[in-house]
Amino acid sequence: MGRRFDVAGLIDLALPRRCAGCGAPLLTLCAECVDAVTGTTFAGGPQPVFPAPAPFGIGPTWVTAAYLPPLSGLIRGYKDGARRDLRTILAVLLTQALVRAAEAVSTRHTGIDVVLSMPSSAASIRARGDHPVRDLVRLAAREAGLPSAEVLRVHGRVRDTAGLDAAGRAGNLAGRMRVRAGDWHGATVILADDILTTGASMAEATRALNATGIEVVGQAAIAATPRRFRPESHSGQGLG
Ligand SMILES: [Zn+2]
Repeated sequence: MGRRFDVAGLIDLALPRRCAGCGAPLLTLCAECVDAVTGTTFAGGPQPVFPAPAPFGIGPTWVTAAYLPPLSGLIRGYKDGARRDLRTILAVLLTQALVRAAEAVSTRHTGIDVVLSMPSSAASIRARGDHPVRDLVRLAAREAGLPSAEVLRVHGRVRDTAGLDAAGRAGNLAGRMRVRAGDWHGATVILADDILTTGASMAEATRALNATGIEVVGQAAIAATPRRFRPESHSGQGLG
C-alpha cells in the first residue's frame, strides 16, 4: 500500500490565502491582526478562571485570552469554517495555557500522564469531516512537551450548544460522555479545549473520567467568554 494522496493538503495550497482577521491577501494572519489577537490575551500570561456560575467539581481552567474579536472569529473560522491553516497560530495560544496548567499541577501532584482533547459530537464530526479540536490539542500538547490522546467520546445525540444557557448546556451534555476502551485507570490528565463557556463540557468530561478512575488534575483552553467567567484571584487584567 502506497501513501494516500493528500488531497486536502493540495486544496489548501491551491486556495488563495487571505488574512483570517481582515481579508488582506496572501497571508494566514497579517501583522495588524496578529497585534489585535495579541490584544485579546491576558497581560502576564494565561490566567486560571472559573465560569460563573461554576459547575460543581471542576477546578480552574487556564486560559490565554478573552473570547473576543478578532480571536473569536479565528477560532470559529478554524473550527467551523475553511481555515484549518489557523491551527499553528491557535496552537501557540493553547500551548501557553497548557504549560501554565502543567506548572500548576506539578506543584500539587507527581505529574501528568496525558493531555486529553474534549470530544466532538458525532454530528459535528460528520459535518466537519475531520477533528479540528483534537488536531489543535495534539499540536499544542506536542509543543508543550506533553503527550496527548483522545479518550472521550460523546454518546448519543446532543444539540448544538450555541445559544444554550448554562443550565441548557449542562442538561444537554449530562451523562453523554464515555471513556473509550483502553487501560486508563489511575491516569492523571489535563483536559484541553478551544473555548471555555459555561464549563458544562469540562464538568461532564470530568464526571465521565472520574467514573473510570481517571483523575482530572487541570484544564486548559485558548479563550474564555468574558461575561461568563471570573478570575480565580483579582490579580488578572482584562478579566472583566
Ligand atoms: Zn489582517
